[in-house]
Amino acid sequence: MDRQQEFVLRTLEERDIRFVRLWFTDVLGFLKSVAVAPAELEGAFTEGIGFDGSAIQGFARVYESDMVARPDPSTFQVLPWSTGSGGHYAARMFCDIAMPDGSPSWADPRHVLRRALSKAAEAGFTCYVHPEIEFYLLRDLPGDGSVPVPADTGGYFDQASHDVAPHFRRNVIETLEAMGISVEFSHHEVGPGQQEIDLRYADALTMADNIMTFRYVVKEVAITQGVRASFMPKPFSDKPGSAMHTHFSLFEGDRNAFHDPDDPYELSDTGKAFVAGVLRHAREISAVTNQWVNSYKRLIVGGEAPTAVSWGHANRSALVRVPMYSPGKSSSRRVEIRTLDTACNPYLAFAVILGAGLQGIAKGYELGPPTEDDVWSLTDTERRALGYESLPQNLTEALSAMEHSELVAEILGEHVFDFFLRNKRVEWDNYRRQVTPYELATYLPVL
Ligand code: GLU
Ligand code: MG
Ligand code: MG
Repeated sequence: MDRQQEFVLRTLEERDIRFVRLWFTDVLGFLKSVAVAPAELEGAFTEGIGFDGSAIQGFARVYESDMVARPDPSTFQVLPWSTGSGGHYAARMFCDIAMPDGSPSWADPRHVLRRALSKAAEAGFTCYVHPEIEFYLLRDLPGDGSVPVPADTGGYFDQASHDVAPHFRRNVIETLEAMGISVEFSHHEVGPGQQEIDLRYADALTMADNIMTFRYVVKEVAITQGVRASFMPKPFSDKPGSAMHTHFSLFEGDRNAFHDPDDPYELSDTGKAFVAGVLRHAREISAVTNQWVNSYKRLIVGGEAPTAVSWGHANRSALVRVPMYSPGKSSSRRVEIRTLDTACNPYLAFAVILGAGLQGIAKGYELGPPTEDDVWSLTDTERRALGYESLPQNLTEALSAMEHSELVAEILGEHVFDFFLRNKRVEWDNYRRQVTPYELATYLPVL
């Protein structure tokens, strides 16, 4: 038993915690939980908790279904709301998933990210990220296909706009901070009911765990305020979608490897090669950063979302932006990746972006000139003439780009790569068969 494990066992006793929820994430990015009594935890630390992996999306084929969840004591947190009539608390810990022989499971998204991070470490880098998480607060989550009603009528940066849930953001932030997750900024976003909360930077694995916690906390707090939260990338045809812009930087020890004070963008050659890698592989990794049929409804012209493979400095139509908020401050030199949406699997999405960036560094990719054109306003032909590639326009185009990618196969590992492609092909096929209200309204009266 190591010191962290002992600390967990002591805290359970001292705080009179009745349930420990062991959390992990399936391949599609859904949070899974199994609650154990504190008395079971010592065993869970030494042997793990066995479960049927074949019942979890993407985890195993039926004939190899036994899997073991191994709690990671460094992720232990008491859930700051009380449970049960006695007011007892519950706690959570994220798990790594192992096979019965103790080897890490290839299906575990946390393991996929760990592998990508150890590749970064071999090259001498630690990866830090911070996400800007957007989502909608709605009166309800109708499951019958009807259009939801936003919880407020506010717009960008509005203060007094929370018609139904006035203390929502404050409650979320207090809950997150009580769990050791710091929030840097929060504000009302452009759409009615749309919110943004930006988490303070952390290493990429901690952040992926934090994002899973964040989604859960946001949904829970919304319910206590009588509203509902949704991370769907584009719930309204005529309002902005919800992005998860993520800022990346690589550090070599204490030194920010992306910083060069003498460059006009204060971006080092390493930073440029990273951006070049992300851009060169943007189409191949798109199915992972934007994994749903609905994700591609966000990536359209006019929604402040990127549609073309480009980078820039102030340009919000660019896929990668090099923000200049704190000129001269080495530690804050970073690049902002703007494709990701809030409904991605953060472990897999961070793994493919990091993998693409590291490939750029390893192969010394050249970064082309920045674009200060408004790529949004260009036609497809103009874009091609100027050399901008377009992002995939729908999930099937993204899957075709991913299918041929050796890089993505290597980053995800064969198991996740195959499962993901198979699962997403089915999703696309189900969607393709649908005759939509739009088609009925447009065609039926005239054809
Ligand atoms: N909501 C926009 C999107 O879907 C991003 C808005 C922003 O720049 O923060 O990408
Ligand atoms: Mg925003
Ligand atoms: Mg941003």
